[in-house]
Amino acid sequence: MSIVHHPDPSNLMCYAAGSLPEPLAAVVACHVSVCPECRRDVAMLEIAGADLVTSLAGVEMLGDASRPVANIGGSADTYAVKQTMAVKKKTGGADVPAPLIRLVGPRLDGITWKYLAPGVRHHPLPLSKGAQGDLRLLKIAAGMQMPEHGHGGAEMTMLLAGAYSDAFGRFTTGDVSDLDTDSEHQPIADPEEGCICLFATLAPSRYKSPLAKLMQRFTGI
Ligand SMILES: [Zn+2]
Repeated sequence: MSIVHHPDPSNLMCYAAGSLPEPLAAVVACHVSVCPECRRDVAMLEIAGADLVTSLAGVEMLGDASRPVANIGGSADTYAVKQTMAVKKKTGGADVPAPLIRLVGPRLDGITWKYLAPGVRHHPLPLSKGAQGDLRLLKIAAGMQMPEHGHGGAEMTMLLAGAYSDAFGRFTTGDVSDLDTDSEHQPIADPEEGCICLFATLAPSRYKSPLAKLMQRFTGI
């Protein structure tokens, strides 16, 4: 796996602090499970956060202070964050990232897909009660061109299989597209393979074409 696109450093920091919203944290957890570079960065941020909390509070760390803590912030109960350390487990033969295996099983070809729109199927994923945003798996047909859109909130996409391209480059397995409200793009799935991706948003996309706006009433994203 040759990863080129990583989550924004600010989002890695929020993830390490346990303050990243749940759908985005799920994507980062999955990326961290396959990206040694970001896994190292998150571990260092967690240690730095623990050191900071310790020095501010003037309390002694219990146990091994060199061990990265899972979370400093308040959203430690999100399933994605809980699964961070699942990367250490062996997932023999799995092509689903470790944090998602208990939800969808170990194999992408074992996932049940539902029709979402022409050329697009999806598998919605559960969030904690009251969590903001949306999290789902998307399966995009080969050569499918998604409508050009902006974003009402942060949007994070991790490629699990295949590839897509947009104005920010070509995204393949393990890559993460991390976009904010100022970004616009029009992903085009690989003409041979299409793609499967983990897709997280905090607010619905902003589409330009009337047809895409109409479709959004049915897709909800
Ligand atoms: Zn990375």
